[in-house]
Order: sequence, then C-alpha cells, then structure tokens
Amino acid sequence: MARTTVKLPAPLRALAGGSGEVFLVGETVGAVVRELAERYPPLRRHLFAQGGELRNYVTVYVNDRDIRELERAETTLKEGDVVSIVPSIAGGAAPSEDGPEIPPTSVAEVPFSREELIRYSRHLLLPEIGLAGQKKLRASRVLIVGAGGLGSPAALYLAAAGVGVIGLVDFDRVEASNLQRQILYSTADVGRPKLEAAGARVIGLNPGVRLVSHEERLTSGNALEILGAYDLVIDGTDNFPTRYLVNDACVLLGKPNVYGSIYRFEGQASVFDSRVGPCYRCLFPEPPPPDLVPSCAEAGVLGVLPGLVGTIQATEAIKLLLHLGESLVGRLLLYDASEMRFRELPIRKNPECILCSEHATQKGLIDYAEFCGVPGAIVETRAGTVPEISPTALRDELASSDPPLLVDVRDPEEWDISQIGGARRIPRALLPEKVDELTGAREIVLFCRSGKRSALAAQLLIDLGFSHVKSLAGGINAWADEVDPSLVKY
Ligand SMILES: [Zn+2]
Repeated sequence: MARTTVKLPAPLRALAGGSGEVFLVGETVGAVVRELAERYPPLRRHLFAQGGELRNYVTVYVNDRDIRELERAETTLKEGDVVSIVPSIAGGAAPSEDGPEIPPTSVAEVPFSREELIRYSRHLLLPEIGLAGQKKLRASRVLIVGAGGLGSPAALYLAAAGVGVIGLVDFDRVEASNLQRQILYSTADVGRPKLEAAGARVIGLNPGVRLVSHEERLTSGNALEILGAYDLVIDGTDNFPTRYLVNDACVLLGKPNVYGSIYRFEGQASVFDSRVGPCYRCLFPEPPPPDLVPSCAEAGVLGVLPGLVGTIQATEAIKLLLHLGESLVGRLLLYDASEMRFRELPIRKNPECILCSEHATQKGLIDYAEFCGVPGAIVETRAGTVPEISPTALRDELASSDPPLLVDVRDPEEWDISQIGGARRIPRALLPEKVDELTGAREIVLFCRSGKRSALAAQLLIDLGFSHVKSLAGGINAWADEVDPSLVKY
C-alpha cells in the first residue's frame, strides 16, 4: 500500500473540509479516490457517476501523467506519488510552419513612420522581434472573446505591442463591480457598453491599431464567421458553453486558441492548437455539471489574478504571431496566487477526442447551452419543480403571524455584503449535514444571491422529503430591488 498526497482543486475543497491536500493510502488511483469520497461523502457525487466509474470531466494526474494515458482508475501507485484532481474552470503550439497565416504582403511592406519607430523601439531592439517582427504584429489579427478580467490586460498589451487588428466580443455594460479587476474601464465608464469604453481606451493607448467591436453573443450561428477573420483567438470567457464553442470553432477552423481561466486565487493557461497538440476537449471531454463550479460573481476572484493570467495569454499570442520561443502547446500551466506557485502539467492529444482526433465524430458546432447543461447525476433543478416566491410575497409572509423559516444558503463571505434579517445561515455545501435543523418548520424559504443556488438547495430538500420549500426568485439582489433598496447588490 502506497502513501500518497491527493491535491484537490479549489471548487472541491469546501466539500473536503477546506483542505487542499489529503494524505491517503491505496494501491490504485481508483482505490485512493474512493477512499477520498469515503472520507468526504459530499465529494462522491462530484467524482463518481452512478455506475461507480470516475466521471468524465474529472481529470486526474499521477505526478505529471494523465491517468487516461496510464491504466486509468487501475493505475497503480507507489509511495510518495502525488495524485492531482485537475478541475475544468470557467472564469486560453509551437506552430512553426502551419502557424497563423502570413500577413498580406501589402501591409507588411508599408514602411513604419517615425512615430512608430519610436513607439516600438524597445521591440525593434530585440533581435527576436526587430523591424520584421514588428511588421508581422502590425499585420496580425487577434480576436479576444470576452472583454472582462482576462480580456482587459490582453487587449491593452496587444494594443500596446502594435497588433494591427484587435477584435473584441462582448455585449455587456460596465458595472461598478467590474472595476476591481477589469482594468480596461474607468469609474466614469460605469453603465457604458463595454466595447464602447474599451474602444476609447485602446485607441487612446495606440491610435495605430484597429479595434473591431463584435457587440453580440458568440453563438454556433456566428462563431465560424467571426473567428474565421482572425489569426488566433484569446479565450477570455467566463462560462463553459462559450468556452467549448470557442474551442470547437478553433479546431474546425484550424486556429490556435490561447486559453486562460480563473477561480478565486487560482488560474490556468494553455495554448490549444489541434494541428500540433491537444484541444480543450482532449483535456476536458465534458463540462462539469452547472452547479459544481460557480462563476466569479458567485465565488469571488482575486482582482489581480486575471491581470496575470490575461497577460500570460497576451504573451502567448504575441509569441505565436512571431513564431517565437516555446509556446504552452501541450502544457497546462496552473497558478496559485495565494501560495505564489506555478505548476505545469503535460497534456496530450486524446486519441479518442470526438473533435480533433482521427476518430472525430463531431464535424460542426453544436448546441452548447444544452451540452453544458446536460443533466448528470448531480441534483439538477428540473424546470418548474422548485416553487419560487417573489420578494414582495416573502416580505408579506415574513410579516404574518406564522412566518416561514428563512434560510440563507450563501457562503459566509457573502453575509458581510448584505443580509435579510432573521435568516438562518447554512451555506449550501453544508446543507446535507444540517437538514436536521430544518425539520419541523411549517414552510422553508431559501435564498442566495441570484436564486440559482437556492433553487438547487430547495431541490435537494424536496428530494429529501421536505414538502413546503420555496426559493426566493432573483435572490437577495431582487430583494434589494423590490423590498429593501438600502441593501448592496453584488
Ligand atoms: Zn481534442
């Protein structure tokens, strides 16, 4: 029996008593992971499908090898092995010959102005870039999907570096809560369309670049056309449907996809280029269930984290455009800001990948919302099965002679931002072990920030046999809108 260290990703730590490392003894990966689920029962449904096999989206490494290249769950362990569970998080090739398209000769031949020579002089001094490289950058086109935390530094550095055409896809407006990390925007931009504000900022930085605004949602209907006009894509999205869409469109178009993602204090980056390495699906064949990985809006994120990850993406993009150095193709870079540690895991093309392998069965884009909402064994709210209550109806019930038991299922950090008086506080992850506290209540109303987590929590209670359970529609933010405007919305 080997003693091993199991490293848990941030999204699973809360279910394992908060620890990031667990020391376990077992002969195989399967035995150790079962042992882990035994010790922390809430982890079970995240790790195993109903048939008892490891879930498809759970990517496990032993030291630096993916168990899919070894004996999968049967992989034997030796003393001191490190078993890493690598999460897919939502929140970025060394192509030398078949890299991005060569810039059109006409653009490359236009001489640089005196101003440009001065502006780019620190690049021109680098033998690896020089005038030829700077011309390549000017003739390059990069698309950034998402003008948020990752897209901000990426867009700014690419503009500063002189990338000729920068496309941005986003359709949001700037919110005050964006300013903590989305450095493209100023306080005065709050309420403005993001792309309008970003355009002004980017052109202010470098009037020599052209910013193309795609103020729309990226969909299966428009992705190939939009992405098709660029040399490479920077994935700065914050949700799984768009992430898989970007990956699939890049594979189908044969373009590099510079990947980055962030979660609380942790980031990931890689370059997916299916012509010379794995794609995102090779690493994560399936998305995690919708309720496993909360967004930055729900989980929080260290503001400076996307600054680093987005800058890594910009670095990789510039290297790819210049055919310079060694890219992150085939490597997944993991960054832990709280411990200030970088780790790197090799990733390989999955010979069975449904998209980029020889046995590919998927030949086009699909319905990504459906793909990412696939009902797994995880508790899913089935539409219409969880009764909701409106903020005003709840206010009236709370004022009645027989008020319902109000339960706040948000995480403790959120309690400091806003509260509804009289609520019992039970974070959703702890609900299964605290249901005893709820028995006997005539009616239970659960609430969270937006109504999503409380609906899942209500479904759980209903499945456990509670009959009078409701979820507050729109969460505490809707309560702030309709009942108590003094509350902070977040
Ligand atoms: Zn693939």
